[in-house]
Amino acid sequence: MSARADFDIVIAGGGMVGASLALALAGLPLRTLVIEATPPADAAQPSYDDRATALAESSRRILEGIGCWAELAPAAAPIREVHVSERGAFGVTRLRAVEHGLASFGHVVENRALGQALWRRLKLQAGVSVRVPARVTGLAQDEGGVTVTVDAGDGGTTAVRARLLVAADGARSPTRTLAGIEHETRDYHQVAVIANLSPAEDHGGTAFERFTSSGPLAVLPLARGRVTIVWTLPPERAATVAALDDDAFLAELQRAFGYRLGVLRKVGRRASYPLSLVQARAWHAGRVVLAGNAAHGIHPVAGQGFNLGLRDAAALAELVARHPADPGQAAVLEEYAEWREADRARTVRDTDSLVQVFTSELATLRAGRRLGLVGLDLLRPARAMVARRGMGLAGRLPRLALGRSLGP
Ligand SMILES: Cc1cc2nc3c(=O)[nH]c(=O)nc-3n(C[C@H](O)[C@H](O)[C@H](O)COP(=O)(O)OP(=O)(O)OC[C@H]3O[C@@H](n4cnc5c(N)ncnc54)[C@H](O)[C@@H]3O)c2cc1C
Repeated sequence: MSARADFDIVIAGGGMVGASLALALAGLPLRTLVIEATPPADAAQPSYDDRATALAESSRRILEGIGCWAELAPAAAPIREVHVSERGAFGVTRLRAVEHGLASFGHVVENRALGQALWRRLKLQAGVSVRVPARVTGLAQDEGGVTVTVDAGDGGTTAVRARLLVAADGARSPTRTLAGIEHETRDYHQVAVIANLSPAEDHGGTAFERFTSSGPLAVLPLARGRVTIVWTLPPERAATVAALDDDAFLAELQRAFGYRLGVLRKVGRRASYPLSLVQARAWHAGRVVLAGNAAHGIHPVAGQGFNLGLRDAAALAELVARHPADPGQAAVLEEYAEWREADRARTVRDTDSLVQVFTSELATLRAGRRLGLVGLDLLRPARAMVARRGMGLAGRLPRLALGRSLGP
């Protein structure tokens, strides 16, 4: 062990949630350290990879509040309409943002663009230090703080002392394990295959959610006329599809999606993500608290994982702003846990039921979802509720998600 440094808050993981949290905290009179294992522009970076993220309106507001939206806006594609359909069925549901008095339901941004914007801004913050590449490899707690062991991969380790340690190091969170927080995992036995491509026709800001017998397929608008797909498939089928050459992949995708956007062309690299529901059994242990996927890894069918994690970050920053003298005190973390558990439970329940309904082959559920699709189109209030939740505007909202500053 070598030198010790002291911080108010150490964040393990500078992925999408950890970096956002650091920026939310940057305006407070606190010293924050972000420890990130993989440089943000590295090809192997697991958070800022080839995926794109559908950002709910609440997330756009948070990103605006932490000073990143201006840079992201030109690279973001607005979702003006959501089109839900089922292969081989008649029910089609259209949700239009204008019907809800909105210009858009949300925006789609590529994860690499998010990483660039977050980290460019992070490096400008006087109150935020970063260590990258470096890993959290150990921790010890006492009443007044946490001593965090940091390994920079150069043969030595450093001990860092903080009042609060935030585990924002993803669904497999080593920091969560080090803190002794257990988690449960439910394997969906599904794999999401993602890719970007250019359809012949303009997407016009429409996001498509198509339910096929092998699983849901989302086609989301991207800037410059491109689209990104999230194709959920059984593992063997996903392996086969992901291994196809470009032409065969496009032909297979065209069969599943149809010609709503004309001929599908110019597909980029494919990447696969095995899907499971991961939920931590507690939100904190002593002075270690969880945020983002470290607390909840959910199915991407409704595109809610990062949106939920960003609300964790905004909520935690808000509570810390009220108690800057000791952000790791039990009262702060208990309020955070109670607040976030309500949002997590609601989001997991909504997402999980969507997964069950739309991946089931049971005849009753199939009939039910057809009725559901048609019914959803007819029931305006139900659609308004679905839209509101999808925009991340349900339940108790952090101030940043309301477009306000952190302070009262
Ligand atoms: C196919 C797919 C599509 C998705 N689409 C959407 C969408 O449209 N909308 C949406 O809201 N969500 C979406 N999600 C979910 C979203 O990607 C995640 O919720 C989000 O990545 C969580 O961010 P995070 O920062 O909590 O964790 P991660 O993104 O996993 O980042 C964790 C970070 O911690 C670092 N790290 C790990 N271990 C250590 C250590 N020991 N020390 C230091 N650093 C460490 C990693 O390098 C990484 O940078 C999707 C997910 C998938 C799989």
